Amino acid sequence: MHPLITVWSANLILASAAIAQSAPVAPRTGAADDDPIRTLVGRLDLATYKSTIKGLTQFGDRRQGTERNRAAVDWIEAQLKSHGCANIARLKYTYFPSDPELPSGPPIARRPDAAVGGARYRGIRSHTGVNTDPHLQPDEKLRTLNAEPSKGGAREEIYCTKGGATHPEEMYIVGAHMDGIGWGEAANDDGSGTALVMELARVFSSADVRTDRSIRFVLWNNEETGLNGSRAYVEQRRALQGSKQEPKWLGMIQHDMLLFDHGMPRADGTLAATQRAEADVNIEFQTSSKFAVQAQQLAWVFQVANEKYATDYPASVGSHMTNTDSAPFQDLVPAISLRENERGTQIGAGWDPNWHQPTDLYATYDDADFRLGLNAAQTTLAALAGLTGATIK
Ligand SMILES: [Zn+2]
Repeated sequence: MHPLITVWSANLILASAAIAQSAPVAPRTGAADDDPIRTLVGRLDLATYKSTIKGLTQFGDRRQGTERNRAAVDWIEAQLKSHGCANIARLKYTYFPSDPELPSGPPIARRPDAAVGGARYRGIRSHTGVNTDPHLQPDEKLRTLNAEPSKGGAREEIYCTKGGATHPEEMYIVGAHMDGIGWGEAANDDGSGTALVMELARVFSSADVRTDRSIRFVLWNNEETGLNGSRAYVEQRRALQGSKQEPKWLGMIQHDMLLFDHGMPRADGTLAATQRAEADVNIEFQTSSKFAVQAQQLAWVFQVANEKYATDYPASVGSHMTNTDSAPFQDLVPAISLRENERGTQIGAGWDPNWHQPTDLYATYDDADFRLGLNAAQTTLAALAGLTGATIK
């Protein structure tokens, strides 16, 4: 193992221990519960998180290569600006629908119960797929909003950065994809993750918040076509690390579909109407990645942060992260993803009937659903605050 990685891993374990023991980052005065991480987590709330998701749904499914997608990128930029997030920039690349779709995970093993990402299916599975039929969207207004087809060409995706006070040259990347498909509103996939990243940008960009290390907030485009937006970022900026333009990457944390955990489909293919009592946030790393050991440590830092700071739902760690924008990073830095369910065995087995469907609408979800996304936001915010040494002036 490279000595730097050993040092980094040790830092991670220390960060994990710091969160676990609630040790303040710096000596503090006042009451024993004067915990900056708890204060920061308290700046997230359900109403604001919901309204950010609602704001994203005004652009329909935000399919890449359309005017509604470009309008959503502009809207996200304006929101980030209003939150005071610094150094807003756009990554530019091109995408043509004829581009070969690159695999977003390791190859699927030829076993009847093999799920993507290396996992194994258990229990009842139900149908999954992508809706491509506009007539399955009964809302005429939404059908019209989503009507423009995708065209190949120039693409843009937005990011902004919280600069570290003592180590601005090192950063964590926090991401979600803002594009969607399926003739709905992409409220969950991935309005829920995009709103989470925007909410974290708001909290960390507050003038009274200081972090030792930097945090970059990125809203990927073209996830649904094969992670083309995050791949473009890696291709263009990987070699710039350590220069003035690009801090060194410490880790990548992706958020994709965070609202719906109603459990396994029943034998007849139907699902429970409400969030299950056992709902959890699923934190996944990829066991076959080059940074599997460090990614696993990072995942446990997030699990510990959830246990200490998330208000309602616990988190589980799994080893089969796949099909998401953290994949292009996984052999370069520790990479994890947060979801409502495991991607391979659960989402892949039909646990989310709204996935890429006309029913992925803001109105489909209730507060118990939205609250799972809020708990994922609390988890990532708390973990990042610990990892970057956040304090409040
Ligand atoms: Zn997604």
